[in-house]
Amino acid sequence: MYAAKFIILILILNLSLPFYAGSTTSALEGIGFLHYHEESSEPVFVLPSPKPSRTPVFTPLPANTKIPIETAATPSPVNTKIPIETLKPSSTPEASQSPVNDDKGDLPAVSDVLTQELLNKVYKQEGEKVAYLTFDDGPTPRFTNPILDILKEENIKATFFTIGTSVEHYPDTLRRIYEEGHGIGNHTYSHVFKNLYSDPDNFLEELYKNEKVLQVILDTDRPFRLVRFPGGSFGKKMEPYRKAVNDAGFVYIDWNCISGDAESVKAKPPKELLARLKETAYGHSSLVVLMHDAPNKENTVKALPSIIEFLRSEGCRFELLPGSR
Ligand SMILES: [Zn+2]
Repeated sequence: MYAAKFIILILILNLSLPFYAGSTTSALEGIGFLHYHEESSEPVFVLPSPKPSRTPVFTPLPANTKIPIETAATPSPVNTKIPIETLKPSSTPEASQSPVNDDKGDLPAVSDVLTQELLNKVYKQEGEKVAYLTFDDGPTPRFTNPILDILKEENIKATFFTIGTSVEHYPDTLRRIYEEGHGIGNHTYSHVFKNLYSDPDNFLEELYKNEKVLQVILDTDRPFRLVRFPGGSFGKKMEPYRKAVNDAGFVYIDWNCISGDAESVKAKPPKELLARLKETAYGHSSLVVLMHDAPNKENTVKALPSIIEFLRSEGCRFELLPGSR
């Protein structure tokens, strides 16, 4: 009887010990983490990059901290060229004379074209500490306005990836974003995954429709060709969409740093958002920070001052994404 109990105990230990000994963590690392989008019940897997950089720019975390960091989307071969003299106010003499050192792998001056290649370089800027703050899924006046207040006080420009249906509801908030010098990106018209990702042509239609809405409300004929895929452009499944987007003259950007404000259904407290940002910033020289000004994102507003303070303490300068302005 004793022997039987002993064997059962050994069996249970065998099954459970590896689980607690860390295989759960490594399994999680393998699949990345889930990125839940508010409007979609579909979780999106985001793959972690293989290893943190050998020369981390951002303050290292304790050695045992697990850091799932997203990889940039696979660059597509693109030769799309869009004249962007109207996109960037950088045709001013000062901006065109801004120092650029190609030897260091810095971003080239955004002179006359906006290419996917240029966007892909945003993630890697040797010797630079640049942060691109981005806010998705707005505008939502209740949260977008306080975010704009904070950015104004801090004298920082950010990029807002807006949804067409929200823009139609809140045109004044969109105008405020634009008038205060922030960048605007195209985050599709509906953000409904089922429609968007049923066919690349549907996806393109959504981009054109959103672009038109933005042009009408802002009373401009400038293109809005900087895209962020709802849920990200990661993975093989998105390959036809990435190609279609580039072939149609759009460029896209994902992110390499998150506050985790859309990572779980339950809202994370502001302190956790800051902690998550520090965690995912580690090892990157340049940060494309994903945050949201969607409904229910009040903790993003609360966390923003501390996030800015952290990035400033790390010596970051804040920039607009190419093609957002
Ligand atoms: Zn979104």
